[in-house]
Amino acid sequence: MSISPQAVPVAQPDLLIVGAGMAGLTLAAALAGEPLSILVIDPHVPAAPEHWPASFDPRVSALTQASENILRRLGAWDEMAAQRVAPFAHMDVWDGDGTGNIQFHAREAGAEHLGHIVENRITTHALYQQVMAAPNIECRRLGLEKILENDPRQDASGGSPDTAPARWRVVLSDGTELTPTLLIGADGARSRVRDQLGFRCRTWSYGQSAIVTTVRTQQPHGDVARQVFLDSGPLAFLPLREHSNERRSCLSSIVWTLEDEQLAAIMALPDAEFCQRLGQAFEQRLGNVVQADPRYAFPLLQNHAVDYIQPGVALIGDAAHTIHPLAGQGINLGLLDAAVLAEEIQRALGCQLPLDDPSVLRRFQRRRKPHNLLLMSAMEGFKRLFGADIPPLRVARNLGMSLFNRHTLIKNQIMTRAMGMEGDLPALAQPGLVADF
Ligand SMILES: Cc1cc2nc3c(=O)[nH]c(=O)nc-3n(C[C@H](O)[C@H](O)[C@H](O)COP(=O)(O)OP(=O)(O)OC[C@H]3O[C@@H](n4cnc5c(N)ncnc54)[C@H](O)[C@@H]3O)c2cc1C
Repeated sequence: MSISPQAVPVAQPDLLIVGAGMAGLTLAAALAGEPLSILVIDPHVPAAPEHWPASFDPRVSALTQASENILRRLGAWDEMAAQRVAPFAHMDVWDGDGTGNIQFHAREAGAEHLGHIVENRITTHALYQQVMAAPNIECRRLGLEKILENDPRQDASGGSPDTAPARWRVVLSDGTELTPTLLIGADGARSRVRDQLGFRCRTWSYGQSAIVTTVRTQQPHGDVARQVFLDSGPLAFLPLREHSNERRSCLSSIVWTLEDEQLAAIMALPDAEFCQRLGQAFEQRLGNVVQADPRYAFPLLQNHAVDYIQPGVALIGDAAHTIHPLAGQGINLGLLDAAVLAEEIQRALGCQLPLDDPSVLRRFQRRRKPHNLLLMSAMEGFKRLFGADIPPLRVARNLGMSLFNRHTLIKNQIMTRAMGMEGDLPALAQPGLVADF
């Protein structure tokens, strides 16, 4: 591993992070100030707030307490709160096809809130600010073109004879060639790093898509996150605020899961009719839907890389796993991947281990894969249970939901899991910070 002098443009970085989404930027921010040269590449670097459209970002995430802890420790949270974040203290989940209902209250878990709904552009921009301020990190508006096995005889890294030659030669969209010690694929669900290096994946399509948009309802949401399970899939109304201190907001971000064959017709509806159909599907729980922003549709896939690592390369975030949005867990898993990988890299630096020592990436994979797999399987089971149209199963799930709703101990366990506060947490995610919002 070569240790580069700080603030020098990165020629052959120690770490090349492909993708400046939330996962890639979290990894970079967590390694700010370390004796490592880091290059982050992405053709779409986050836009500054003055260039944001006036409307809300249609892509939002329900960030868990663990994610909030990570973002606070990285110094991004204050900037996010100064933009706007919407805490939710209650969750209300019900079966649209029966009487089953579960409510979660933060106070039952001894917490002030269960999480925050935050527009993705706010989180990304706040992380980007931290990364740009770090002397050892450079971001370039470039894409990854291809990855080749490095021929040590042509190794341009100029490494000393006692450092092993880099494993990969990476070609960027402007033709630059780099031989990073460690290559990180943080390039999202359609990861080129993953595909070019032939990582095997378990993938299936749900035959469903999700419509996302921002809506205004007749009644305020009261900081409650709501989700109804319909025959077509879950429909979530996630509370938003115009600014972090707003009370009695009537704005929600919706995620409406539909069968692919229903999608085109709903997307084509005029606004007034769309609002009416949406209000009906949501049983008018917040009165009428009175206004909706432009809609966007995302096909839903479940994808999990069989391995997250190969020699000299690791996948994090959606590049390693995509999950059904019903759990609202996708980026929460991605932030934990990034925080754990950063911790393992710091550990390697502390014991003078080369960055690409196999034990570094193996420890990362051992800590993250079982956790992600467990959550993904639980969500898959949940989705199948609610997707089932078999009457006894429907009765059982309604009964089960009502019984479960009275069982405080189990509910508390689920809440702890939903808040991301269980398992092998990296130090960045652990409790111990005072929440302001
Ligand atoms: C409808 C919907 C609702 C969701 N709701 C939630 C929720 O409530 N909570 C939650 O936790 N998650 C949610 N998710 C999931 C969440 O949005 C993703 O998990 C998250 O955005 C993944 O972040 P990432 O950084 O891994 O990847 P991305 O956000 O996809 O970022 C990848 C980055 O890589 C860049 N890139 C791609 N190709 C290249 C290349 N060749 N070279 C260089 N750069 C490249 C891209 O430009 C992009 O900036 C939802 C997803 C959907 C579809």
